[in-house]
Amino acid sequence: MSTFPDSGTLFQPHIALFPSAGMGHLTPFLRLASMLLSHNCKVTLITTKSTVSVAESTYISSFLSTHPEINHIEFQVPPMEPSNSTSDDPFFIQFEATSRSSHLIHPLISSLTPPISAIFSDFVVLSGVNKVASVLGVPNFTVSTTSVKFLSLMAYLPILTSEYSTKLSNNCTEIEIPGLTPLPISSFPPPFFNPNHIFTATLVSNARALKDCKGIFMNTFDFFEPETLSAINSLSYLPPILPIGPLQTYEVKKDQRRYLPWLNNQPEGSVVFVSFGSRTAMSKDQIRELRDGLEKSGYRFLWLLKTKKVDKDDKEDVEDLLSISFIERTKEKGMVLKEWVNQQEILGHPAIGGFENHCGWNSVMEAAQRGIPMLGWPQHGDQRVNAEVLEKAGLGIWDRTWGWGGQRLVRQDEIRTKVFELMTDEKLKSSAKKVGEEARNATARNGGSSTKTILEVIQLLKQNK
Ligand code: UDP
Ligand code: UDP
Ligand code: UDP
Repeated sequence: MSTFPDSGTLFQPHIALFPSAGMGHLTPFLRLASMLLSHNCKVTLITTKSTVSVAESTYISSFLSTHPEINHIEFQVPPMEPSNSTSDDPFFIQFEATSRSSHLIHPLISSLTPPISAIFSDFVVLSGVNKVASVLGVPNFTVSTTSVKFLSLMAYLPILTSEYSTKLSNNCTEIEIPGLTPLPISSFPPPFFNPNHIFTATLVSNARALKDCKGIFMNTFDFFEPETLSAINSLSYLPPILPIGPLQTYEVKKDQRRYLPWLNNQPEGSVVFVSFGSRTAMSKDQIRELRDGLEKSGYRFLWLLKTKKVDKDDKEDVEDLLSISFIERTKEKGMVLKEWVNQQEILGHPAIGGFENHCGWNSVMEAAQRGIPMLGWPQHGDQRVNAEVLEKAGLGIWDRTWGWGGQRLVRQDEIRTKVFELMTDEKLKSSAKKVGEEARNATARNGGSSTKTILEVIQLLKQNK
């Protein structure tokens, strides 16, 4: 690895970070902010004035209190008329509103001292932020919060949506993206079939802007997606892809952690951790099948239960949802939580032997970092493509017949069988362990491929280039 001059003698770059809505977008930005501080950068964090979830506002405040050197700007997003949006999902409405008004951050950052030297922004605000960066004469780097494979699909969307009739004929089962392995249609997020859907329309306009940003940071590492990485780097319509993951956790205020005494009492590798991220709620019928599947599997479990997309709406009682008799019967073997936990910390606990999860990309990288085998149960958006990626990398398994979230009821026996496979497949255990070793190599302070990539960018900025 090249050696870098003493950072103290160089110009201190000032980087503005602009994440999008939801913990899945905020978390990687906070991890990146903490990393930039440790490399002697000045950081301005732009967040929207009100956040959709309580978890976001709690994490922003706690992050700022533990990182007082960060300059924080609250961006008041002009509200959207609810009737103007094609979605009733509060996160989507916020994506769309922030995406539409992202160019309005210009006056907020144009007069900062020292002046901004670069912007690192979410994919969904890319087209507006590119314009701001160009006026300020600074580079804009996109921070993508998904797999390289899904990014390649998003990058190709403008072409795909303009050629729907030819590319997506009734009989086609795969989508051909030049240079990449064909993508099964079944993994294509359903809203992508409708170019007018807000999700699709927002992604298309930002995908068009990809070519004008300086580089695309990806929370991934070379070993995890080698073929897609080399293929995507040869696509002329994209700037350099910069794998900098798995992004490392930063010190947080310890939560209540009422799970810890229970977890500490469980044998090593014996517990299945069940969690579907920060904004995926299952139907009550599906929750009951999952409950019975877990119980029938006979494995110990720590289950993070969600019944509403937005945390502040999630008020139902665990006992009402799962029944008192279930809680009583399984109290030795299982624990069910309905609160925000430190997922990264749980995944790092020696008692955890498997992770049943929706394949949200942050969760995938957190499991990769620890080499924890995954049972993927993708629900929405990028998650089926992510499931393909983690399976290919040897981190996990999934059952394609389970469909999208809510598409059909996945039965308790199917769940029991897959949980059994997750916890007993020795080949999976050893390939997941290997993924963990490679993830830690990639982020090693000396010579890790991801460390080297981010340091090279910081170095360029320090040279004021
Ligand atoms: N997370 C957490 N505690 C919770 C729920 C989620 O720490 O109770 C974190 C999880 O570790 C991950 C992020 O929230 O970093 C969720 O992002 P992901 O991409 O996995 O899924 P999303 O929530 O965006 O669907
Ligand atoms: N996406 C994004 N910014 C957003 C919303 C979506 O970059 O504010 C992209 C991103 O790559 C994400 C993908 O669209 O992973 C799928 O979005 P979805 O809402 O399913 O997932 P999430 O936002 O939870 O990652
Ligand atoms: N979706 C997603 N991530 C989520 C929630 C939903 O990608 O966290 C996808 C999912 O495929 C859903 C679609 O977005 O079918 C549209 O969601 P919306 O809430 O807009 O409802 P719909 O248009 O299906 O009525």
